[in-house]
Amino acid sequence: PADQVPQAPEDPLFFLMRTYRADESPNKVDLGIGAYRDDDAKPWVLPVVKKSTYDSAPPASADEVLRSDPNLNHEYLPIAGLASFTSKAAELILGSDSPALAEERTTSFQTISGTGAVHLGAAFLAKFYRGNRTVYLPDPTWANHKQIFGNVGIPSATYPYFDKSTKGLDFEGMKAALSAAPEASIILLHPCAHNPTGVDPTLDQWKELADLVKQKKHFPFFDCAYQGFASGDLDKDAAAIRYFVAQGFEMLIAQSFAKNFGLYGERAGCFHAVTAPHADATSTIGRISSQLAIVQRSEISNPPIYGARVASTVLNDVALFSEWTENLKTMSGRIIAMRKDLREKLEALGTPGTWNHITDQIGMFSYTGLSEEQVLKLRSDAHIYMTKNGRISMAGLNTKNVNYVAKAFDKVNGN
Ligand code: PMP
Repeated sequence: PADQVPQAPEDPLFFLMRTYRADESPNKVDLGIGAYRDDDAKPWVLPVVKKSTYDSAPPASADEVLRSDPNLNHEYLPIAGLASFTSKAAELILGSDSPALAEERTTSFQTISGTGAVHLGAAFLAKFYRGNRTVYLPDPTWANHKQIFGNVGIPSATYPYFDKSTKGLDFEGMKAALSAAPEASIILLHPCAHNPTGVDPTLDQWKELADLVKQKKHFPFFDCAYQGFASGDLDKDAAAIRYFVAQGFEMLIAQSFAKNFGLYGERAGCFHAVTAPHADATSTIGRISSQLAIVQRSEISNPPIYGARVASTVLNDVALFSEWTENLKTMSGRIIAMRKDLREKLEALGTPGTWNHITDQIGMFSYTGLSEEQVLKLRSDAHIYMTKNGRISMAGLNTKNVNYVAKAFDKVNGN
């Protein structure tokens, strides 16, 4: 009976967003949400997105958008999504000169943003993976990973990732855990701008990890939510994935366009499967693709069209693409500037502890090292909102509030 359904706890991040909105303090600062904000703490519609959607003069309604293109309609996409989008998405992540693309041993499915891509991969693995059916997640990782895999019956384990003392990568711990894991385990990796820590392996460390993963016959699953948003350089942020492809791995990739296109609510994402370079790789990928189509059809039938259309318009146009890379630099540049500013202000105040990790870390988030107690104190005393693990969204900082935030961090650190 229905009255036996137990109450589930509210998602902590969405709870945080709700309490922030309800806070009436004029000083309130939102460092919780993982979404880009401009220097006025406002959401930023990328100029290139506005332009590709609405041409140059923004029309008043979606009808006008449709009228400007007589061929535009609201028909269903194919099960695998918008081909002009997925093909460019694959080139973007793998590199247009990728051997895997040239050898036609990849398949790409448009998904409900990055979350849907992780889910499609997990659902596929749940049906067909014949190795050790446990996914190893970094500790910590994006809060949703465990339940996405859990929902399809794939249990998770963790590998050490964050070193609390250096606030950097626990590389030795990570390697030891991946070595100790049973052979052929599924290893989830963040290729750039690790969420929540902002800590990434160096390229040399990725090379060592690739050797280890190969030696243990592990199966890599990359979750890429920040390409171009992290460093401002699309190729650099994809370097780990491309290195693994060059080593001939079989692997899965989840790709989100939420952050790098500012298309959060449009749910534009892509899932890619890459097979190893062997003689019948193309037939293998054909069979994988046929099974992915069954999973996708049973779950979402076909993906939503609007966000993919926006991204596709930009990805397929040389001038718009180049403008997009500028927009990426605007976002990543502002975040990098805020990292510098926050660190400098904390150091100038003589705030106890070291603060180099703020600028060493990359991407949307920084793991400050603030304790849960300090986080709650900042919330109640200074109206500054962040997740309990001490993660701050760098995009919530701007030239108007960084001083206020630095002073509050200083105070909560006992200065
Ligand atoms: N993976 C990671 C690591 C993320 O940080 C995010 C965004 N928070 C996602 C996946 C998925 O985001 P979305 O579904 O909005 O693309």
